[in-house]
Amino acid sequence: MNICVVGTGYVGLVTGVCFASQGHTVTCVDIDEKRVDDINQGMPPIYEEGLEDLLNEVLLKKKLKATTDLKSAIQGSEISFICVGTPSGLLGDIDLRFIEEVGRDIGRHLTDKYHVIVMKSTVVPGTTEYSLIPLIESSSGKKAGSDFGIAMNPEFLREGTAIEDFLKPDRIVVGGIDERSTEDVAELYKDFDAPIMQTNPRTAEMIKYATNSFLATKISFINEIGNISKSLDIDSYEVARGLALDSRVSPSFLRAGLGFGGSCFPKDVKAIVGKAKEVYYHPIVLNAALALNETQPLRLIRLAEEKLGSLKGRDVVVLGLAFKPGTDDMREAPSIKIISSLLKKGAVVHATDPQAISAARKILGEKISYYETPGEAVEKGDVLFIVTEWEEYRDEALYRGKTVFDGRNIAEARAADYYEGVCW
Ligand code: NAD
Repeated sequence: MNICVVGTGYVGLVTGVCFASQGHTVTCVDIDEKRVDDINQGMPPIYEEGLEDLLNEVLLKKKLKATTDLKSAIQGSEISFICVGTPSGLLGDIDLRFIEEVGRDIGRHLTDKYHVIVMKSTVVPGTTEYSLIPLIESSSGKKAGSDFGIAMNPEFLREGTAIEDFLKPDRIVVGGIDERSTEDVAELYKDFDAPIMQTNPRTAEMIKYATNSFLATKISFINEIGNISKSLDIDSYEVARGLALDSRVSPSFLRAGLGFGGSCFPKDVKAIVGKAKEVYYHPIVLNAALALNETQPLRLIRLAEEKLGSLKGRDVVVLGLAFKPGTDDMREAPSIKIISSLLKKGAVVHATDPQAISAARKILGEKISYYETPGEAVEKGDVLFIVTEWEEYRDEALYRGKTVFDGRNIAEARAADYYEGVCW
């Protein structure tokens, strides 16, 4: 099939490259010319394991190209995936600016040929039916259902394992406005070894929020157990092991630490809380999960102050900037809160990360110093904060003779002179 993918970020580029690797012909569209040029030259604008190789493979086979020309991409394809960002607005609720722009533009370029438009971006329930369809209908003068198809197909990939997650998902959810739209999208996934759940668009949208809200809440839950355990001199990792032996509890997402970050959990939980308020419901559990997550990263600083007193003028080495290993994504990374607080307290911050230094510079600027390797960074100070659990930090030599405050439970760091974990 000829596929158009609009937006070439973590979701769009992975979607495009993966569909191309399955033999489809894909045109990726972005408004960012540099991104488009980089993609056409085989250089992914984001770091994701395996992406560069797969991109070059599909470019060589001429199965994928990138462009800024939405019109030709739409008119040269049968199906389009919307993969643009849906950030938080000022009040935390969803900002649909990019979706609305793309919806209008897609509508302008529709011809008499039937075309299916698929929402892959995470949008609050009702957006596809009550915002996207009216926009496309008014800019195209065409009718959803008869002239064009519409479906919502949420994406569940995780940064760091995005390609694997896309190609081997646990499930595929397709919410079409009618059978034809749903079938056209489901057809694309027919060779995937995963159950395909067919539903309506707003249920598909809610499934994505339910998933992310559940996982975020699970993280806050185990952090709360971790905080209580720490105060009672109990190792919360042992508690989690015991908990996960219960067949009703899955062992994943039970690693207490610095809380959730990234481009999805914080913004998605805030967005569904915002949507709930629109219908006069004030979520209690979800607000609690967010509130706990706000302060969790700062517990590392409290531990350091309890041990060392004032951090003013102290050299502190931060191991890890990205919100999790395997990505260069800095959106809502706990490192931002920790470093900002350290700077406010007058500490001198030296940071290292294998992938996220350039993304971090855009947020943290030159107020801190950056090092490519942990070896270089740890020479700059004796106080170490472990913030992201990169494999590179599983090396006892980094920690010998140091004072370590660990937010990620790195066993090798116990070789330090003084070691303290945030929830153990
Ligand atoms: P991103 O910010 O990395 O990428 C968005 C891309 O869209 C950018 O390249 C931007 O230039 C482009 N864009 C913006 N307006 C455009 C327009 N009018 N035309 C063409 N391109 C345009 O975003 P992302 O992380 O890939 O997320 C995209 C969506 O998928 C969001 O709704 C997000 O919540 C959801 N999602 C993300 C992940 C993830 O792990 N990142 C996982 C599942 C779902």
